[in-house]
Formats: sequence, C-alpha cells, structure tokens
Amino acid sequence: MAAEQDRGTVARYIPGLASISPDQFGMAVVGADGSLATGGDAKTSFSIQSISKVFALTMALGKVGDQLWSRVGREPSGNAFNSIVQLEAEHGIPRNPFINAGALVVADVNLSGHMPRESIGELLRFVRYLADDDSIAIDESVARGEAETGYRNIALANYMRAFGNIRHAVELVTGCYFHQCAIAMDCVQLARAGRFLMLDGRQPDGGQVVSARRARRINALMLTCGHYDASGDFAFRVGMPGKSGVGGGILAVVPGKASIAVWSPGLNESGNSQLGTLALERLAEATGWSVFSART
Ligand code: GLN
Repeated sequence: MAAEQDRGTVARYIPGLASISPDQFGMAVVGADGSLATGGDAKTSFSIQSISKVFALTMALGKVGDQLWSRVGREPSGNAFNSIVQLEAEHGIPRNPFINAGALVVADVNLSGHMPRESIGELLRFVRYLADDDSIAIDESVARGEAETGYRNIALANYMRAFGNIRHAVELVTGCYFHQCAIAMDCVQLARAGRFLMLDGRQPDGGQVVSARRARRINALMLTCGHYDASGDFAFRVGMPGKSGVGGGILAVVPGKASIAVWSPGLNESGNSQLGTLALERLAEATGWSVFSART
C-alpha cells in the first residue's frame, strides 16, 4: 500500500485528528481459528471514532432489546454521517444507529440509570472484554476537542430532544458520545474486539456476548449502513459487513472466517478510509472472502 499516492485527507474538523500523518497504514486479521496476521502499523493506536457505534449499539440492544427500534430505524440513510436533513421529515427518528443522529439516541439509551462517567466506563469495560485487553483507553484530548467544536452533533441532539427522542440533558448525551468516539485502539485490539461478530455472537473462549441472531443483525446493519452514503459502494467493492470511523479505521467481518481491522487516516469524500477500503477490496479479491460469494 506504500506506493499508493492518493491517500485522501485526514478529518480536520476534529482538533485531535487534524495533525495526524496520512502516511500510516496498518492491518490485522484475526481468523476464526485464532490465528493473527498483521501488517504495517498494526500496533499503532488511533481514534476509533464511529466504529464505537458498533459496540455502543451492541450494549444498547443488551439493555432494551428490540424496543430500541421504536427510536432508531434500520435503513441506509443515503446521506452524510452528520446530516440533519432527514430528521425533520422523519420526526426525530434517525434512519439507523450508525449515522451520528442514531448513535446519539443509542448513547441516550446507554445513559439510562447512569451518570455519564458510569456509562462511558461501562462501554470501555465492554470493549476491553471483547478485545481481551485492559490497556484500551479513551484519549481525553480528542474527546475534549470534539466537545468544544462538535456543533453539528450538539445540534442533532438538541433537535431530537425537541421530538422527545433524546431523554437526557443534551450535554450529558453528547459528552458520552464524544468519549466513546475517542476510544483509542490499534488494529490488533480492534480486530479482536470484532471476533464475536464473526463467531455467531461468541467469544473465542465460548462466552456468549450476544445471540447468534443478534450478531447476524448487527452484521446486516454494518453492511447496509456502516459506511453512510457509501455503504452500497463498500458492499460492491468489498462485500463484507464493515464499520468505518473518521479516524481512518474500518472494522470488517467475514462471518465464520475472520475479523479484520484496517487503519489509514486519509479519508475519501464520504469520510471513509481511502487506503483502508482499497486494502479490504484487495484482501477480498485475494481470499474470495465476501458474504456474497460461494467461496466464503
Ligand atoms: N466523532 C465523529 C463525529 O461525530 C464521528 C464521525 C465518524 O467517525 N464518522 O463527527
């Protein structure tokens, strides 16, 4: 990947991410058999940003189950991740849990009965458990920077609060959301955290994280909504459930085969990692891994 010239641009609108060099690339593949393959900067930590929405959704479903779907939809939005336009016509119900508006509702659900600090702690513990790595932490400076400049997210939360679809004080909900986005992980940790999605909801040691049905459904949402208005293109090129973040990370799942994390900070115009997507496309081609292929 080192020879690729077009690396996209890093997310400049988040202060903590603006100065990160796009000249980085890492990948980790954890196989269903427990094998691990890594390449490049696989042990460099990055801000997982919207990839955290997968873990937050999993936690919210554990708390309220299918009731969640009365407050968040399950359809691709066809709009940018931070768009506000659909919310008015759709009465404050976000299209899906992976656009920012949907993730804010999920953060509101996860906050129920908790102080923000506890809610963030619970999510961090969950991610550490999934990755089997207690060293995973939140980058407070990234969280703070986003809280200071996240006017769009604050607007989205206020707007949904007006419809009654955000139930806690807006600053508490956005505070939790900015902290979950600021979780820092490397590719190896992230690929490990995604193992339950390739193993029908189980950890490699057999521990059940979610039911097989729920894992299947989360994968379906990742495939249809995980790359915002480029989800169709990602399915076309890569053919795996995947979730991107503006830190340049992508978590991709090949059920029964592999959990893959890739990272390169330069983004394409949809806010998805330019090189990361290309790497996954090439991996899919080389291995035949695709949820649409008989070879998988
Ligand atoms: N924290 C970012 C935001 O809310 C997450 C967006 C993303 O990763 N797509 O804008």
